[in-house]
Amino acid sequence: MNKEFSRYGILFVVSAPSGAGKSTLCDALRQTPDFVYSVSCTTRAPRAGEIDGEDYHFLSESDFRARVAAGEFLEHANVHGKFYGTLRDPILSNLHSGVDVLIDIDTQGAAAIREYDDAFVRQALADVFIMPPDLEELGRRLTKRGTETPAQIEVRLQTAAREMEHWRDYRYTIISQSIEEDLMKFRHIMGAERYLSSRMILA
Ligand code: 5GP
Repeated sequence: MNKEFSRYGILFVVSAPSGAGKSTLCDALRQTPDFVYSVSCTTRAPRAGEIDGEDYHFLSESDFRARVAAGEFLEHANVHGKFYGTLRDPILSNLHSGVDVLIDIDTQGAAAIREYDDAFVRQALADVFIMPPDLEELGRRLTKRGTETPAQIEVRLQTAAREMEHWRDYRYTIISQSIEEDLMKFRHIMGAERYLSSRMILA
């Protein structure tokens, strides 16, 4: 690249109802050197196989509240009755150094970032909604995953139906198909976002 040009990092926000294939997509993207994946904080219990500090920072509710009070979060939300939050400092430092960041957050979190009161963050944003197949298929996928009880699955399906109403708020929508197709579509978005003139800085 012409060395007179550089750019700030892009904040890729991916949202989808749980079971829509987003975790598989994000896991695949995490294997690549294209982004830094932002590890969220949560008060929910770890699932089997989840690693503290890698999948989430698993916090007690009092620790989470203390961090909210200390202003450590870029956004935080109550999802399915548990708290989730994105730590601000690692994201800002990566974006300032031109490193792209990927975050997997719900529709409330994405809305908060769209309205964030720092234009630098708003301009860094590239938000992508992963539209799941129909709700019946989503229910089947969640049942197959086997990590939630039928009552918890019911809550997640209700949340999914609500979240799917927000797809138009996102700059991009990927209608979820196979992981390979979803990944390819995401890469097209990533490519285009990286060449936006407005992201370029001329030394
Ligand atoms: P799960 O418990 O299945 O890992 O995640 C449940 C939901 O919480 C998902 O929709 C996920 O995108 C969302 N989520 C994860 N981390 C964050 C976060 O830091 N902030 C917000 N607002 N939502 C999050």
